[in-house]
Amino acid sequence: MHFSCGIVRPPYEAGSCFLQVTSGCSHNKCRFCTFYKEAPFAVSPEREIREDLQEIRDSGWKVNRIFLQGADPFLLSYGRLKRIMDLIK
Ligand code: SF4
Repeated sequence: MHFSCGIVRPPYEAGSCFLQVTSGCSHNKCRFCTFYKEAPFAVSPEREIREDLQEIRDSGWKVNRIFLQGADPFLLSYGRLKRIMDLIK
């Protein structure tokens, strides 16, 4: 799996499978937040997403839920998010 920084998720996603589609935070200026200070913002290439999804499938894990990782997955365009959803499906 490709993870270029630590995983940050809400408590109710504890049982979810994590898929990095962005890393870091595109804003990264909130003074109270240290989550992504060492992680430059980046969008994951589709190749990495495909590799991670293949790894998840090959692992045999029973995955009911996938949580998109990085601070800003919804910064991606609709078209790109739809492509990722299609890959997940
Ligand atoms: S992750 Fe959220 S709280 Fe942290 S710097 Fe980015 S916008 Fe601010």
